[in-house]
Amino acid sequence: MVRNSAAPGGADRLRIRAGVVKRKIGARIFLAFAVQGSLGGAGARAAAAQRAPENVVLIVSDGLRWQEVFRGADTALVNRRWGGVEDTTALRREFVRATRDSARAALLPFLWGTVARQGQLLGDRDSAGDAAVTNGFKFSYPGYSEMITGHADPRVDSNDGPPNPNLTVFEWLARQPDYRGRVAVFGTWDAFPRIFNRERSGLPIRAGWEPPFPRPADSAQALLDHLYAGTTRIWGDELAYDAFMQAEVLDAVRREHPRVLFVGYGETDEWAHSRRYDQTLESAHRVDGFIAELWNTMQRIPQYRGRTTFIVTADHGRGPTRETWTDHGHDVEGAEQIWIAVLGPHTPPLGVRRTDAPVTQSQIAATLAAALGLDYGAAERSAAAAIAGAVTR
Ligand SMILES: [Zn+2]
Repeated sequence: MVRNSAAPGGADRLRIRAGVVKRKIGARIFLAFAVQGSLGGAGARAAAAQRAPENVVLIVSDGLRWQEVFRGADTALVNRRWGGVEDTTALRREFVRATRDSARAALLPFLWGTVARQGQLLGDRDSAGDAAVTNGFKFSYPGYSEMITGHADPRVDSNDGPPNPNLTVFEWLARQPDYRGRVAVFGTWDAFPRIFNRERSGLPIRAGWEPPFPRPADSAQALLDHLYAGTTRIWGDELAYDAFMQAEVLDAVRREHPRVLFVGYGETDEWAHSRRYDQTLESAHRVDGFIAELWNTMQRIPQYRGRTTFIVTADHGRGPTRETWTDHGHDVEGAEQIWIAVLGPHTPPLGVRRTDAPVTQSQIAATLAAALGLDYGAAERSAAAAIAGAVTR
């Protein structure tokens, strides 16, 4: 997929930092006032905790197929001819298993060890029902746009397209008092500033290869800037490495405590386009580990513990056969098929969900808002309804 756009600007991170400092001071004053007022001590803290807004994270592994998510490694692709696999013995040892259950658990241990037990997974066509994109394009920009705006738009028809003309749920949340300055977007693909319409939305967006910490606060940040600046770029300027971005995301979570977060991992798509099934599986396995790391990091922080919902998905599917698994787009049958995972305090632990009607990518925006107790459909009439039963509060 041809991907190009202007590099993102550097002022955003500074903007969110400054905003957080102001809010922290504000919260401290409020808390001091509450403790001194008629509500005393623990009672005041409990009341404040109840009123405090919750948190939500939307995570995308670009173009990761439902086939790998629900079936694990596809043995028809663990070879040089169809999968471009360099070391089939090593790949078999790592990801090929005798059963479907053990294969998918080996590939995606957090999804199958934690999300399947404590949350929900949608889109298992082998047993439970469909999840699909409703835009007919089946490539990235229209897919990300559908999931964050709540509807497909025929005008959003190119990865090189202009800034998104539609309202996104992230922009909508950032306008509300509880979330102003507490929304953050991270993605390895340099198209995200256009997809989230940075100019109009004012959202802090970190995308692509820009050094994340132009004024590093410590040696860890300086090292990460050094790696961003000095590492050879496999996919040119358009896509940075997931592992580098992960370090930025964890840093932002620890320091800035965003309440609404987008995290876009890109390697799963690129390796598949390159017909490298070994690297595709490796990337998917690493993304699963990054999600686990983010979840566990957040659960150690009081703001997030027991008060955070994760929604994990893909922007599009890919072809189902050994010929077409590398590709997606409007002419690729099956590339409309995606999967959606939900984990959080308001998500009933139903595991692999059976759904009568197909769920759609367009339902993700309203589901994300519903996890915060908010109705996105009231603001964006074109948005599809939240996924029934995915968050109940
Ligand atoms: Zn692609």
